[in-house]
Amino acid sequence: MQPKCAYCGKQINGKFYNDYWGNSYCAEHLKSVPQCNYCGRLIGKNITRGGKSYSDGRRICGICLKKAVTDNAQGLRLLTGVRNTLKLDGIEISPFRPEFTLISRSKLKQLDQGSGEKQGFAVFNRQLENEVVKSFTMQIFILDGLPEASFISTCAHELMHIWFYSHNITDTSPALAEGSCNMASYLVLRRQKTPEAELLIKGLFEDKNKIYGGGFRKVQRLSDKRGIDGWLNYAKTHKRI
Ligand SMILES: [Zn+2]
Ligand SMILES: [Zn+2]
Ligand SMILES: [Zn+2]
Repeated sequence: MQPKCAYCGKQINGKFYNDYWGNSYCAEHLKSVPQCNYCGRLIGKNITRGGKSYSDGRRICGICLKKAVTDNAQGLRLLTGVRNTLKLDGIEISPFRPEFTLISRSKLKQLDQGSGEKQGFAVFNRQLENEVVKSFTMQIFILDGLPEASFISTCAHELMHIWFYSHNITDTSPALAEGSCNMASYLVLRRQKTPEAELLIKGLFEDKNKIYGGGFRKVQRLSDKRGIDGWLNYAKTHKRI
């Protein structure tokens, strides 16, 4: 017997579609009903208690909206938590005195200039003495309104960029740099042990982008073989992977 549709409540007749959360839908709804950009559920009264569109066009369901990060103080608290979590895996950023701001998609686009960062951006200023970083300041910008798991993942990614800069490593290939930054996301998400984090981890492993996805899978394999220390040492001593 065909399952019942989570969207219209009717017995499904014909093609259907399953989401990550165990809901089945009549395939035809996919054409007309918006899907949450973050969890993939169809946005509706019964499944997600509604939802909304952000002004930049992103769709977010009522479930994800409840966990959306929309306040700078809340964001800075979470960012600090991510920094402390990375430290548990030996990825240390110190001193840690970030300027933190939630920003709109259009401002993020201006900062990013097509480099590929979709949800966050890190700006780093350093003072060198004899080729060694003596002191540095950092600004972290994260896209406004991300659900907590996506927010945390993005913070870890941007903080890993800071890790590279703070070790005076600036000429790493994009695949090693972005792959390592996604590896930091993976490490933090893995400790969350929530279905939302698991979904993002799945996304990292399935990401078709050569630099972000391919780079991550190479770094992840390297870290599996040599440990996190082995990967970090590799990143300090190699330009590409
Ligand atoms: Zn239906
Ligand atoms: Zn959602
Ligand atoms: Zn990046």
